[in-house]
Amino acid sequence: MPNGNDSPSKNAPANTPPDSAHVTNFIRNIVEADLAANKFATRKWAGQPGLASQHAAGVPDNAKIRTRFPPEPNGYLHIGHAKSICLNFGLAADYGGRCHLRFDDTNPEKEEQEYVDSILDSVHWLGFDYQKDGENNLYFASDYFDWMYQFAETLIEKGEAYVDSLSADEIREYRGTLTEPGRDSPHRSRTIAENLALFREMRDGKHADGSHVLRAKIDMASPNINLRDPVLYRIKRGHHHRTGDKWCLYPMYTYAHPLEDALEQITHSICTLEFEDQRPFYDWLLEHVRDAGYFADPLPKQYEFSRLNLTYVVMSKRYLNQLVTEKHVDGWDDPRMPTLAGARRRGYTPEGFRLFAERAGVSKAAGWIDYSVLEDCMREHLNDITPRRVAVLDPVKLVITNYPVGQSEEAFAPNHPQKPELGKRAVPFSGELWIEREDFQENPVKGFFRLFPGNKVRLRYGFVIQCTGCEKDADGNVTKVLAEYFPDSKSGTPGSDTYKVKGNIHWLCAKGAFAAEVRLYDRLFKAAYPGRESGNYLDDLNPDARKVITAYLEPSLKDAKPEDRFQFERHGYFVADRVDSKPGVPVFNRAVTLKDSWGAKS
Ligand code: ATP
Ligand code: MG
Repeated sequence: MPNGNDSPSKNAPANTPPDSAHVTNFIRNIVEADLAANKFATRKWAGQPGLASQHAAGVPDNAKIRTRFPPEPNGYLHIGHAKSICLNFGLAADYGGRCHLRFDDTNPEKEEQEYVDSILDSVHWLGFDYQKDGENNLYFASDYFDWMYQFAETLIEKGEAYVDSLSADEIREYRGTLTEPGRDSPHRSRTIAENLALFREMRDGKHADGSHVLRAKIDMASPNINLRDPVLYRIKRGHHHRTGDKWCLYPMYTYAHPLEDALEQITHSICTLEFEDQRPFYDWLLEHVRDAGYFADPLPKQYEFSRLNLTYVVMSKRYLNQLVTEKHVDGWDDPRMPTLAGARRRGYTPEGFRLFAERAGVSKAAGWIDYSVLEDCMREHLNDITPRRVAVLDPVKLVITNYPVGQSEEAFAPNHPQKPELGKRAVPFSGELWIEREDFQENPVKGFFRLFPGNKVRLRYGFVIQCTGCEKDADGNVTKVLAEYFPDSKSGTPGSDTYKVKGNIHWLCAKGAFAAEVRLYDRLFKAAYPGRESGNYLDDLNPDARKVITAYLEPSLKDAKPEDRFQFERHGYFVADRVDSKPGVPVFNRAVTLKDSWGAKS
């Protein structure tokens, strides 16, 4: 029964500041233990990434720890990234450290400036900054290509890397399996001089793509497949968004990433669990490059946590890309998309995301978080910050037949029921109103307490009325609801509370209300695990994820600026679309309903 629903009552107290208290987790425990042991106390910092010699000539590092968020600029950030951002920037903020924003742009093919820009935007929007205390920790891994190349030559010179000329298929075949050891490539025994000469030719463009790779020389029989001579470099001709055509030799992610961390003196390199088996190579590589004198102890350490999986959502960039390119959505920032750009347009808030990251927690246990947890975080914050307004989404006329024709007056509606200090606003009232079509039933079903012939309801913040009937068109559709009002029942006037009614409905004066486009968004997928049953996640797209309607809104909403947020009473939280709203012509997006309707369904 619609009786207000002003506060999502099942939620925790609305006024708890999202960032107040941190739940501890295993990574915090590690950081605290490291700090207690003074592990990083003697480190120096060159003011920018560099080799051990450069850092040694720098100043004592006043960052107690260094973390990093290292997105590949091959797509827009999504909700999973928000978790990683909140974790890495949050740790730095809480422990007197710095968090670097590093673009992991070592792959020439899929990376673009548009993605770089959108990532910067989203990180700022979430409330984090890589510029802090005089440091500007924004980096591009591609700026380290010369160093990475130099380390590779050094590894060759020490006999720890070699050029292999097997095909990709052969390399896979020689690698062995989980139960069988690998075999040495026939090229593994090339001399250092041969390797060095070949590697230089690879750099100089003398060889075709895929004809040779550089591999670490570790152990083809290692029980950890990742240590069976992993590939460090491949030949790949492709235009890079920053280095252009300078290179045709690109480092593999597993080689580049540890080196990036070490050059930036990252203390805690936090990644998702898929990289757990890579950790031995991470350590192997850094130790060998350190032994060559390029890095100093303490080396960065990698820690893994389980990635965020959210029901009713897909988060791999591959899928998000497909949704965009095949036009299942209107772009990366479509409000239905689980991207941060989409979430922002939809009306989700940074505070809601930070609260969500806190609640989702950090652990090594893989699992799924229900989408409703995210929605509840948004509701909690939106409930706190949004002024209340009235919107009639599916309007039908209500005529008060005993209200003097031509007369009008004001009623007063609170801006926030839990915050009387925010005051009340005047809303016009007259004998012609808009109400929700669903608030009238000519023949009421059992338990319906709103308008039906003979029944009384209160027009919220206004008068009590009694329904006297309705008018219909030739097809039987209700075109007008008729009622009489009780002049001594106006809310806030003496004696008005002697009227006892069960229903309380919202309304808008037909004169002042204006029509506006409103988009009702819902979850993009109708299945909790998209694709799990059909094998194709696209089969589970929710065709009702967006409904565009024309609604009537109260006059004050005409001045809404892009990104102004409101609660439309009884309907949910809405935001003025930041792209499509024009001055005086706002378009509203529903961020989230007042209550979860999905939990009840499933
Ligand atoms: P995707 O699988 O969506 O393509 P990715 O890991 O390839 O994501 P990157 O740009 O490489 O995307 O990720 C940057 C950082 O964000 C990495 O440190 C990664 O571990 C983290 N990250 C990505 N997805 C998630 C997730 N679902 N939960 C937590 N952290 C994530
Ligand atoms: Mg990646």
